[in-house]
Parts: sequence; structure tokens; C-alpha cells
Amino acid sequence: MMRIVGKALIGLLITGVIVFLFDSWCGYCRKKSDVATGTEGVSQSLLEQHVRELSSIGSVFSKVPRSSGIRDSPGETNEISKANQNLKPHGLAITNPQARERKLLYLERTLRDIGIQPNRLTFHTGKIGSGINLYGEIKGKKFPDKIIDVTAHYDTFADSPGADDNSSGVAGVLEIAKVLNSGSGPSKTVRFVFFDLEELGLIGSRAYIKTIQEGKMAPPELCLNLEMIGYFTDAPNSQKSPARIPVLFEPPTVGNTIVTVGNFDSYRYGRKLDGVFTTYVQDLPIFSVSRWGGLIGNASRSDHYSYWEADIPALMLTDSANFRNPNYHKKSDILETIDFRRMRLVVQGAAAFVLEWAR
Ligand SMILES: [Zn+2]
Repeated sequence: MMRIVGKALIGLLITGVIVFLFDSWCGYCRKKSDVATGTEGVSQSLLEQHVRELSSIGSVFSKVPRSSGIRDSPGETNEISKANQNLKPHGLAITNPQARERKLLYLERTLRDIGIQPNRLTFHTGKIGSGINLYGEIKGKKFPDKIIDVTAHYDTFADSPGADDNSSGVAGVLEIAKVLNSGSGPSKTVRFVFFDLEELGLIGSRAYIKTIQEGKMAPPELCLNLEMIGYFTDAPNSQKSPARIPVLFEPPTVGNTIVTVGNFDSYRYGRKLDGVFTTYVQDLPIFSVSRWGGLIGNASRSDHYSYWEADIPALMLTDSANFRNPNYHKKSDILETIDFRRMRLVVQGAAAFVLEWAR
């Protein structure tokens, strides 16, 4: 009798374990398919529309010969002519001050259409007047204090339309915002931040981090920064690299990858980002610098670096800028050079990462 009861108990136990494992597996598959479905919402035509609109506005700044006289253009405000005095030694001048406002209005309208309230954060640079960061957020339903910043700079290098640098990143953040705000919404808070004045030395993101350090904004757990995500090519030797160390560090030689960048502090998230791309975006190879980026000076050249300076984990997705894109910081950085099919894959991977983190 005891033996029969014992066997029955063991049988029950085994059945219980099998049911538990099956249920967990189903739960995992369900979550995985939810994320995959979410990323299907990323629209190639909307990405293209955002890049078209933003790159047609262009830069606030132009390059001027350092030796030229400073021309006061009619209607120039005091602030602008003062800024131009300070910019001239750097070979720059504010020639299109309306560009900032036009871009902000476009971003604000798009965020409102998505259902997210935009907020401007004005900061003062001292020498070249004020700049304006913009953000909007989706409050987490369960854990509102857990925050991810999804970021891109919206300013553009002097005289450059900036289709890749960085209308592509901005378009990506807008589409991630749309995907995250559809359906039942995230459990954790997702904040979308558009930085000004990155091109003059991360001025906007440093001002933003300062507001966090002063306790005026809640600190995020991490940041995902999109910096130039639209240029791809399959041509041989199209990918340059700041460093090549045989066996230890051998980057690809063809510019068909998306590069994931992180430092030691952010590596636990970087590993997840790499994993998400492998799982959800199999058509797009990644080149991972998600652990060693902090050791490579060139991997620090965007707004995620301002988070690193404040010891906040941050990651960057990039096509590697001037190491691949011959139009970098030139007049030729135009819409027609963007590979929107592959850019959509990048945004799908980024959206999957945010969906997984925030659900
Ligand atoms: Zn940039």
C-alpha cells in the first residue's frame, strides 16, 4: 500500500514539474511573440517621412571662414549676434535660427499624434545662447520609478542636411515611442529625449544630466541612444575602424552591420541588446562593442557619453558614422543615401529591447 501511495506521489510530482515547465515555456513564447508583434508596428514609410521632413530643415549653423568679417544679417537678435561673435573663432555662425524651432514643432506635433505630451527643457550655454532639449514619456503602470531614456540628438552639423546624422536616430525614437504607446502600455516608464547641440560637444545632453543631478528630473536606470542608424553598404572594404588588433579586435570590413556600443557598467544591458538583435532581427548582423566601448575614444562621441560621465549605464546603436558613411558632416548627408529597409530592422531591434525591458 505504502509503495502504491509513494509511486502515486512521485507521479504527481513529475506531472507537476512538467506542467510548470510547459507553462513557463508557453509564458516565454507568449512574451516573445508579444514583443515580435510589437516590433511589426515599426513603419518604414513613417521612418522615411520623418527623415525627409527633418533633413529638409537642416542645420541652425553654417561654416564661415574664420578670417571673414562677422556679418550682421537683418533681423538678427542680440543673442544671435553675440553668439556669432563667439562662434566665429570656431569657423561657425548661426545662419538659420528658425531651424531649431521648426524641428521642435515637428517633434512636438508627432509626439502629440502618438498620444505623448511633449515638454521643452531650455538650457543656457553661456557663450552661444540657449538650447532646447525636448522629452515626452509614457509612465509605467506598475513600476513608474523605473525609467529608461531612449535618446537621439536632433541638431545637425553646420551646412549638413543630416539625414543620417541624426534624423535617422530621431525618426527611430519617434517610431519606438509609437510602438511603446500602442497596446496595453509598458509596466516601467519609458522617456523619449531629443537632445540639442550634440554637434558642439554634447552640450544638450550634459545640460539634461545636470537637471537629473540637481534632482529636477528622476534618474533613469539606463539609456539607449540612437546615433546614425541609416547607412549600410555591402561593398568590400566599406567598413573602417578606429582600431584593429589581430585576433583580439577584428571589426568587420563590410558596412552591413549595426554596431552596439556599451561600457563595463552597461554590459549587463549590452548583452541583452545583443541577444535581442540575434533573436528578433536575424536579417541584420550586429557588430558588438557592448563591453569594450568605454576603452575606445571614438565610441564615446555621442550623448550616451554624458550618461557614462554620470555613472548611469548607457548603450548606443550606430552605423559607425565616419568609419562607414562618406557623407558624414557633409552636404551630401541626404535622404537618398539612407537604406530604409535596414534602418527599419535597427529600429525593430531597438523597440524589442525597450519592450522587453519595460514590460
Ligand atoms: Zn551625430
